[in-house]
Amino acid sequence: RHPNLRYRRIVLKLSGEALCGSTGGFGIQPEVLRTTAAELADVYAAGVQVGIVVGGGNIFRGLKGASAGMDRAQSDYMGMLATVINSLALQDALEKEGVPTRVQTAIDIRQIAEPYIRRRAIRHFEKGRFVIFAAGTGNPYFSTDTAAALRAMEIHAEALFKATKVEGIYDKDPVSNPDATMYKKMTFDRFINDRIGVMDATAATLCRDNNMPIRVFKLTEPGNIKRVVFGEQIGTTVEK
Ligand code: UDP
Repeated sequence: RHPNLRYRRIVLKLSGEALCGSTGGFGIQPEVLRTTAAELADVYAAGVQVGIVVGGGNIFRGLKGASAGMDRAQSDYMGMLATVINSLALQDALEKEGVPTRVQTAIDIRQIAEPYIRRRAIRHFEKGRFVIFAAGTGNPYFSTDTAAALRAMEIHAEALFKATKVEGIYDKDPVSNPDATMYKKMTFDRFINDRIGVMDATAATLCRDNNMPIRVFKLTEPGNIKRVVFGEQIGTTVEK
């Protein structure tokens, strides 16, 4: 363990859109995948145990299917399968960077991934493997943010890392308001009451009720994941 390490075990939530780069919100861009994996390899080298939850929004989102007339649960299962595709892509990229990984899915697809088994996931961490948690919670009507919060609690992570498009949480929309200021810290209650968009309410209340700190930071700034892991005060910390 590196002496300046702030977190030893974390869950990182990446949205599906984090993998599509500038391709207009759809698909997987190999270059983006590669740079993300290279960053994670740095974190791996520092001795951090990382569980990763990837979204599926770059391929399919349940709500979108439902609003087009599909049955919501059916549509959500398609969304969960989308997260499996992203998880396999990330696994490939991570292993090319020399990071040993396992994919565990909440929906059994035994030919391509292990089933999610909590104690086995913990064992993987102990053996120095990253675990990619695929298929969300395995239940429709949930999000991968909620899956990330749930897994963070289950594996006793020290924090949930939520990588976003922006630097952190602002008092107003920083895109349309140049004078917007970023919060360094925010309480769970404020986060929930102000309906901060970076995470849905189910995920946020789960974190609050189980006192799981959330670190919100910008993904596309190279080195950011490592900065947070080493205790730098970047982005916004949501805590008690
Ligand atoms: N999903 C689900 N249950 C879960 C996690 C995800 O039904 O526990 C479905 C849901 O349809 C969601 C889709 O998978 O829209 C993709 O996940 P999400 O929208 O959270 O991905 P992101 O926005 O992070 O890319």
